[in-house]
Amino acid sequence: MTHILHRQIHATLPVAAGGKGIELLDRDGRAYIDASGGAAVSCLGHGHPDVTAALHAQADKLAYAHTSFFTNEPAEALADKLVAGAPQGISHVYFVSGGSEAVEASLKMARQFFVETGRPERRNVIARRQSYHGNTLGALAAGGNEWRRAQFRPLLIDTHHIDPCYAYRYQKAGESEEAYGLRAAQALEDKILELGPDTVMAFVAEPVVGATAGAVPAVPGYFRRIREICDRAGVLLILDEVMCGMGRTGTLHACEQDSVAPDLMTIAKGLGGGYQPIGAVLLSRRIFEAFAEGSGFFQHGHTYMCHPMACAAALAVQEVIERDRLLDNVKAMGADLARRLGERFSNHAHVGDIRGRGLFMGLELVEDRSSKEPFDPNRKLNARVKREAMARGLLVYPAGGTIDGLRGDHVLLAPPFIIDAAAIDAVVERLGDAIDAAL
Ligand code: PLP
Repeated sequence: MTHILHRQIHATLPVAAGGKGIELLDRDGRAYIDASGGAAVSCLGHGHPDVTAALHAQADKLAYAHTSFFTNEPAEALADKLVAGAPQGISHVYFVSGGSEAVEASLKMARQFFVETGRPERRNVIARRQSYHGNTLGALAAGGNEWRRAQFRPLLIDTHHIDPCYAYRYQKAGESEEAYGLRAAQALEDKILELGPDTVMAFVAEPVVGATAGAVPAVPGYFRRIREICDRAGVLLILDEVMCGMGRTGTLHACEQDSVAPDLMTIAKGLGGGYQPIGAVLLSRRIFEAFAEGSGFFQHGHTYMCHPMACAAALAVQEVIERDRLLDNVKAMGADLARRLGERFSNHAHVGDIRGRGLFMGLELVEDRSSKEPFDPNRKLNARVKREAMARGLLVYPAGGTIDGLRGDHVLLAPPFIIDAAAIDAVVERLGDAIDAAL
């Protein structure tokens, strides 16, 4: 008997009792390779001694101080570090407790920017279908996963959705990647013109789509054209790197690989690696100056923003990643994972696509490879793969989205940055067995 309202009311969950390195342990002593880091959270794995030591030290010093009275050392140090590594133009950081709060704050920053600069008519948000930006009402409105949105739609701000850049589903036969990228980006310009350029405040997108589509990167050139379109129309570009950011794709920020810099960027998950709940918005100097020269404040705030324990944990996580050169391992092991997935699944009758970047990889499961027909959603294949994987001591994330009205089945892999080749072999072997058992 539990008094927690769990996500799945009727499921009986094992009790997580410990974690060491790439493994989680349940109370009955079973070990699971954490090949998804929950949902791309545990980038350093579990029980990292340097992070737990930093947490103990911070707890001994200061656990909490409200931000209307004080700033604090770990928050200031973490902000310095994030700005030093940020894309061009980013000058400040706004700390919150997770990804949805970060997206929510970024939307309010975009709105306040236009109010401060005398353009209050800019209020429309454009985002993409088959995206996920969080579960609070503003973030849910931006997201394009109809399954999550449907019953709450009357409560959501009006957001306008265009198709994602999703080559497996939307690139036409004979169309080059470049031509497809430009065509996909054109949808944004068309939507801005339809709504009226003076009414649009922001375009929100994940550089690599995570929870709804299983690690789908855009084709080369797409985001550069998106940036041009935003600049021409005076629309702010919000890149949501809550899942794909902070090293997950092999560079600190995924958008580096698309050669674009956003006006606002949201980060969370890998920022604190799960050692504490933390998220942030990175904002450009232009937006900061509009606030600084205007009202002098951002009209928002949460009790736990800049939390000293959360910032100390995130600082320790980011310092370990840098000190141990773990992004080199993300690149090397990412290539290894892609190769091993290709060997195991490229001829599999029900794996339609294998894609991703770095240690952020996805498989798309389909009923029919030639027609790309998804499985009947009533089969709940995603959930079965997850269950079969757990039975084999493996954690994978069952990503899902809506493809032409059907829920797609994707398996998302986001193992810790410390993983090695032997563990990748074990992940791929167990996953293959789990998928075959689930089908
Ligand atoms: N944005 C993206 C891209 C995400 O993947 C998620 C979570 O999966 C969120 C926002 C919401 O983050 P959180 O669950 O921390 O609120």
